[in-house]
Amino acid sequence: MKKVSILVPCYNEEKSLPLLYPELKSLMDANASYEWEILFVNDGSKDNTINIIKALRAADKRINYVDLTRNFGKENAMLAGFDYVTGDCMVILDADLQDPPSLIPEMLKYWEQGYDDVYAKRASRGKESWLRRNCSLLFYKILDQSTRYDVLQNVGDFRLLDRCCINSLRKIRESERYTKGMFCWIGYRKKELLFDRDERVAGKSKWGFWRLFNLAVEGITSFTTFPLRIATIIGGTVAFFAFITMFYYGMKTIIYGDDAKGFTTIIVAVLLMGGIQLLAIGIMGEYIGRIFNETKKRPTYLASHYNEDKLY
Ligand code: UDP
Ligand code: MG
Repeated sequence: MKKVSILVPCYNEEKSLPLLYPELKSLMDANASYEWEILFVNDGSKDNTINIIKALRAADKRINYVDLTRNFGKENAMLAGFDYVTGDCMVILDADLQDPPSLIPEMLKYWEQGYDDVYAKRASRGKESWLRRNCSLLFYKILDQSTRYDVLQNVGDFRLLDRCCINSLRKIRESERYTKGMFCWIGYRKKELLFDRDERVAGKSKWGFWRLFNLAVEGITSFTTFPLRIATIIGGTVAFFAFITMFYYGMKTIIYGDDAKGFTTIIVAVLLMGGIQLLAIGIMGEYIGRIFNETKKRPTYLASHYNEDKLY
């Protein structure tokens, strides 16, 4: 019998889990031709989440859990899930029921047809501000244009992955993770499903503006070095015009003499150059920071328990 794992990263989800579990239970019971596992990864929740998970496991042995030692973020929590998941395939699901479990049977159908990565694409983006929607569009455009593979838009982490994808993902151990990009990077046979994303059932989203901005920087800097190229291009262009200007004013001074004017010109030039230089250094800094973090080779997460077993 084939085994299907459902991976649920949880951070402060004490209100959502009691609503999520009954849905998953009825799904599992309705599809008894598969063996099921629910793997909860408790990402250092500060509320009662871990106790709720333990109580659920006490009643249903199909539930396993990994307990991380602190909050490592969803990307790392998912990697922990990839490491501990035991199924022949895995569905990544948010704890807040924003990803409808009712889509899973359809994913399984395509998996049976031989697809390795069945991902759910949001038909609409729900209630979002104009700014947020367009920032996100721009972000996907940058990534897509600057990489060799297709970067999918409006696709989250909600997807079914075959064992071959799970094993490939486990090989990617980089510490600054942008998992959505990795799903595209690994390739394999992909199939798209459309769905409407619901609002959260309980609790609130952990993604404020800054977190999204950081994720975007993470995404771009860990998948493409094209900002460095932009810095080179801007630098080259400015230097070219600076050279022409220099030549022009130099000749003018030699032919017509010096007329000590042009304070504004100097200030503008200095500020513009200073600004561009700082920006370029900042971009370089992003990459150097990434190199720094990567060279430390720290584990990407630490787990204290797998089910009742203490991990050493
Ligand atoms: N999550 C996590 N660690 C974190 C933040 C979030 O494991 O540091 C989990 C969270 O419990 C949920 C999923 O990631 O299951 C998606 O989080 P959220 O609903 O806050 O994100 P959104 O749906 O707004 O993208
Ligand atoms: Mg959510």
